[in-house]
Amino acid sequence: MNQVYFRFYEELNNYLPNENRKVWFDYSFPDGISLKDAIQSMGVPPDEIDLILVNQQSKGFDHMLQEGDRISVFPVFELFDLTGISLLRDKPLRNPTFICDVHLGWLSKYLRMLGMDTLYSNKYTPEEIIDFSRQEKRIILSRSYQLTRQTEVTHSYWIRSSEPLEQLKDLINKLDLINLTDPFTRCLNCNGKLVPVEKQEILHRLEARTAKYYEEFFNCQTCNQIYWKGSHYENMVVFIQQHLPNN
Ligand SMILES: [Zn+2]
Repeated sequence: MNQVYFRFYEELNNYLPNENRKVWFDYSFPDGISLKDAIQSMGVPPDEIDLILVNQQSKGFDHMLQEGDRISVFPVFELFDLTGISLLRDKPLRNPTFICDVHLGWLSKYLRMLGMDTLYSNKYTPEEIIDFSRQEKRIILSRSYQLTRQTEVTHSYWIRSSEPLEQLKDLINKLDLINLTDPFTRCLNCNGKLVPVEKQEILHRLEARTAKYYEEFFNCQTCNQIYWKGSHYENMVVFIQQHLPNN
């Protein structure tokens, strides 16, 4: 028999016996066993796994176990405090989506400016925020430490600063979001998706000055708000250049 070492992260631990949760444990196996075989034999469903690191390198399910491998297994929707992991890849595993608490109206607008999918309403109750987070796998952003620590909350980030730009910078750095930004793709008002629209189609809705100086327009698919790359856009570009770390 050969031996390797496994460590499972976050909710994947729910499938393991108590003594193997959130710790390294050893696993003995005969020759010719793949990662998938091993993980399935422990009762952890492969479709809940997003990333497997074997000796610090990302591997697929077909990797054959080798004596002494150290194997870290991460769920589809991981928490942030996986120190060191971001060094192993160019960008996060997925596009994170957010739900902001009632105190984070400005932050939600900034995130939408950057194209991040962000729910916000000043009417959401804490219970609704937690429900949305769980149903839609959204990360809760909250000024309330108590909210982020509630037992039903699986994915959250406690926003320390009261200053929106500081909040944004902190979040972008912590989650390594900079490569995921995609400005001018989300409606600032409602989080709907923006799509290009022919000027001719919306001409009747434009003020004369706007119609005269701009050719490229976008329409929110949800609330129908029209956007163009006017001073609003210029300000956003300047804002991004000034406030966010360089790529
Ligand atoms: Zn909209």
